[in-house]
Amino acid sequence: MKGIKSVQKLSSGVKVYDLYKIVEDDYREAQNIMDNGKYTESIHVESAYNHRIDNDFVGVYECVVDSIHEYNAFMDRLMLYSLDAFPSFEEWKNNRIEVDGKAIRLGKWLKRKGISDTDIDYYSKQVRTGQHKYYLTISDLPQHIVGMTYYSNVFTSCMHPDRTESIHLAGALHDDTLLVAYLHKDMDDIEDMDNKLLARCNMRIVEHNGVQLLIPSRIYGNDRTQEIMNRCLSQLYDVNIMSYDIRCDDLDDDNDVMVLRQRTNGYYKHRINDHKHLNEEIEREIEIECPYCNGNKKTNVWIEEAERDVCVKCPVCDGEGITKTLFRYDLDEMIEIDTVVDIGTYNDDYEHFGDHVEIKVKKEKLKEHMER
Ligand SMILES: [Zn+2]
Repeated sequence: MKGIKSVQKLSSGVKVYDLYKIVEDDYREAQNIMDNGKYTESIHVESAYNHRIDNDFVGVYECVVDSIHEYNAFMDRLMLYSLDAFPSFEEWKNNRIEVDGKAIRLGKWLKRKGISDTDIDYYSKQVRTGQHKYYLTISDLPQHIVGMTYYSNVFTSCMHPDRTESIHLAGALHDDTLLVAYLHKDMDDIEDMDNKLLARCNMRIVEHNGVQLLIPSRIYGNDRTQEIMNRCLSQLYDVNIMSYDIRCDDLDDDNDVMVLRQRTNGYYKHRINDHKHLNEEIEREIEIECPYCNGNKKTNVWIEEAERDVCVKCPVCDGEGITKTLFRYDLDEMIEIDTVVDIGTYNDDYEHFGDHVEIKVKKEKLKEHMER
């Protein structure tokens, strides 16, 4: 991967690379993943896959994340004290905290607040200068769509091919406004994602006021990688990619909730061609046309004395034209059954209605990020 040049640099310092210069679509790899599961092996990846609508989001984003894990570990310790305020990440990292408009050393502040020597000592030994490079790859490639859980050994989800719900991967392949975001450590991972996926999030292309936005769904990962992924996302506002903090839940203030609607290309129509062995003894009473009068209800009888035919009511069906008989059959054969099943993308934390999706976001947060 050496020598590959970035195509853009964002104001947050993130370097953007062209994904297609690093890896191509790989239907074989995608099919291999699907063949791993009994629920997904019937899906033909190439038939299910749709190219995504035109967008500028696909790419590899090289982000730098500070040592949040260390910060969180220290905050966990401070939680045991009854403090009215906690140092911010920047204050923790720089060992400077502002008190009454004056910056003092954080160690001094901690002592003032009655933090134990052991905990202050812990803080002074923490690695706080550590900056880690992570890659956030936003992809529309079939292998990345179906590998959205398969590639990870950090987290699992119902989109693993061994889970019943993974049939929805077919819907995800079909869904042309869906992209996946992958968090990984090295640029080289992209070519072979096996066990390299640290966190993942499905992203939706949504048009809002004439601008395309990329809206995240729930982030899958462990506590740490979820946090890192969200921090990476929050460095991409320049290009209208949103972080998870714009999403809302039931607890949010109703006045701040906005529903984004985006048309979608419907469900994937999955044809299932199945063979079934029918083995059954069938016995039922059926009505048939009278075999004697052929349904005429009347028949002619030769009367000797009259020397002619006389028309009479059919004696076999008693003039009904139909008669009842017992139908018996031993069925033993293979038949073919064709069924079509509609498969949508798995409803992560939005609603999928087939022809459109609805995603709830926080109005104010969205405005804030767009104005940056
Ligand atoms: Zn008859």
